[in-house]
Amino acid sequence: AKESGRNQYHYFAPSMQQQVNRRVELEQLLRKAIANNELAVFYQPIIELQTGQLYGFEALTRWPHHDQFIAPDEFIPVAEESGLISELGEWMLMRSTSDIAALNTKLGLDCCLSANISSQQYRLGFNATTLRHILRQTGFKPANLALEITESILLDDDQAILAWLEGLRATGAHLSIDDFGTGYSSLSYLRRFPINTIKIDKSFIHEFAHAPDSQNLVRAILSMAASLGLSVIAEGVEHVAQLEGLKAMECDLVQGYVYAKPMSLEELEIWCSEFAQE
Ligand code: C2E
Ligand code: CA
Ligand code: CA
Ligand code: CA
Repeated sequence: AKESGRNQYHYFAPSMQQQVNRRVELEQLLRKAIANNELAVFYQPIIELQTGQLYGFEALTRWPHHDQFIAPDEFIPVAEESGLISELGEWMLMRSTSDIAALNTKLGLDCCLSANISSQQYRLGFNATTLRHILRQTGFKPANLALEITESILLDDDQAILAWLEGLRATGAHLSIDDFGTGYSSLSYLRRFPINTIKIDKSFIHEFAHAPDSQNLVRAILSMAASLGLSVIAEGVEHVAQLEGLKAMECDLVQGYVYAKPMSLEELEIWCSEFAQE
């Protein structure tokens, strides 16, 4: 991710001294960017592997700055530490549910939307009430929304997290575990929490072609998911060989550069029209 990220994004290359101020500077810039409505949301298609049909999109926030993009891996941590993630996250949900509701209507689609929720948002009070409010405002069908959370949040205080997740789930939205396999986890949380989907981290997919171990691991994840009634999205799929391997393992859903990079709503609309004709 980092390698392609470096070509895609503008990374600050600071001196030691600048590094000290960088966080503060980025936080101020980000605060302004949010206030001035300068952030954007890009969308990356998720495909049903067995049928080749379009399933939905992951929303990924973009920060255009001086003709480049500042990488989410750089500004999301700043947003989390400063608390700006609260505003950013709600704005992103509002923007993306509104965008995809409009796209679905315009193109006669019924596509799902998958959106990242930071564990900091939990701590800052994002909850089912906020979510319901957003869904009501944008008219997005709750069952077409999946919230992506990471394993790290499931290590926190069990009862409170469980209640929070059940509240979100009760809106009709689905819950996904992002970057599955990278965090410490006992796996028992997959039964305890109301999880619908797991997203296999791209590091496993990237090692796929060369490392039989990775293939065995992915196969094991798929069979575990099947027995728990969870659906699986393989992310970071870049090559046809990976796609074929996943297809042979009966993986449901895939996302990655092999199909499409994240793109603006305008680009997405064109992409969808062309995809439908293939
Ligand atoms: P993520 O949620 O794991 O998102 C997937 C990342 O993989 C995205 O990076 C996407 O552009 C990239 N990717 C997709 N397909 C491929 C592929 O085939 N190969 C490779 N190498 N990479 C692929 P991106 O957009 O730079 O985002 C990085 C991270 O920033 C995300 O990782 C997510 O954790 C965070 N992020 C982005 N937008 C948001 C947001 O709105 N809210 C929150 N909380 N986090 C966000
Ligand atoms: Ca994600
Ligand atoms: Ca991920
Ligand atoms: Ca991530």
